[in-house]
Amino acid sequence: MRKYIMIRLLLLFVPGLMIGCTTRSATTIIGSAATVNDNAVVKEQKGNERKVVILSLDGFRADYLDKARTPNLDSIASVGVSGRLRPSFPTLTFPNHYSMVTGLYPNHHGLVANSFFDKKLGRYSIGDRQSVERGDFYHGEPIWATAGRQGIRSASFFWVGSEAAIGGKRPDYWMQYNSKISPLTRIDSVIHWLSMPQETAPGIILWYIEEPDYTGHTYSPDSRQAIEKVEQMDKVVGEMLARLRKLPNRDQIDFLIVSDHGMATYTPEQSINLAQWLDEKDFEYIVDGVPAILYPLPGKVDKVMKQLEQVPHVKVYRKADIPDRLHYGSNPRIGEIVLIPDIGTYIYFSTNPTFVTGGAHGYDNAHPEMLALFAAFGPDFPNAHRIEQPIPNITIYPLLCRLLGITPAPHDAKEQDVERILQP
Ligand code: AMP
Ligand code: ZN
Ligand code: ZN
Repeated sequence: MRKYIMIRLLLLFVPGLMIGCTTRSATTIIGSAATVNDNAVVKEQKGNERKVVILSLDGFRADYLDKARTPNLDSIASVGVSGRLRPSFPTLTFPNHYSMVTGLYPNHHGLVANSFFDKKLGRYSIGDRQSVERGDFYHGEPIWATAGRQGIRSASFFWVGSEAAIGGKRPDYWMQYNSKISPLTRIDSVIHWLSMPQETAPGIILWYIEEPDYTGHTYSPDSRQAIEKVEQMDKVVGEMLARLRKLPNRDQIDFLIVSDHGMATYTPEQSINLAQWLDEKDFEYIVDGVPAILYPLPGKVDKVMKQLEQVPHVKVYRKADIPDRLHYGSNPRIGEIVLIPDIGTYIYFSTNPTFVTGGAHGYDNAHPEMLALFAAFGPDFPNAHRIEQPIPNITIYPLLCRLLGITPAPHDAKEQDVERILQP
């Protein structure tokens, strides 16, 4: 059944997917035979019309593709590259969007969670505009700064970090976050940016949609509502493809679709209220949720560790003891104690919690439920292939640099992971 749907829709969408499926012209061999350090290639890039577009669909768990009807995403996979991204820990929105555009683990780029505490700058929280727009919270060099330094303009419709002047720089075109702006309006802007005259056009465009994350949280990833939302997002992708197809420069556009993390169902029975175990007065700051990050007052760490010994469904770490594979624990913004719950458990700290069933992420990135969507097509992805082993999402930054023909800033990703994506 699924195969049939895919083939039928391919017939509908192949013209759109011909974007970039033609052979490369001599002026557009970027990041393949040439090395990224080759200045001649960078110069050439400045003069040509190559473009890279990356869309993030928040909370699009990798296996939603097997659970929902997603003909447009399936058709991209059938002509381009598809696989699964392994998010960085913690598997949350802000750390992961910023990891994808810097190639750095959250421990290194400084967004160590959606909410955290910095001794000098104070509290960072995604709901607090002042902190979100303050550049010194963000370390590393985002792709728009790397591109700008090397003569390529950039545009962002809501990518995390793009609203702050990081190292004094924002993308050339950017928007202040407003979740009420519809996906279709966002598409209009992306198409406008792709249609601008070359003298002012961005070479890289990043955009973002909040779903299916929001619906996954509210109803759980196993719900009918989540699947319907996934199908709706697939239609948004279909609309984008139809609009791309009409552009005269369609053969010059690499198009990537990613997600920041997956989603897992948690239940009231397994959830934990830390207020039953701990005394709020022992803490400078508490971040509840997944993971929970505790900032005990000086001298209280041992006491708190003892109190947490019997808490079920949760791994409790002093920050220095967090397993190396999570690349987390040395940043001063991380509290002294980190609680990583098992899948199925949510952590509250509340005197009056409401225990419900819902969806959450933030868990250990080794869980398959946390894996996220990856698909790409365009002139730099000429051969269809599926990547079986998950790709660390920090690979996105050097991949984007390769597609743009620019030299990346220092990052944590491995060259061989970029090759796994670009392999012929
Ligand atoms: P999470 O709590 O990790 O699921 O975060 C997802 C939420 O982050 C989305 O529902 C958005 O409302 C929010 N979000 C995404 N980008 C931004 C932004 N640039 N500024 C503020 N909030 C954002
Ligand atoms: Zn997210
Ligand atoms: Zn979320």
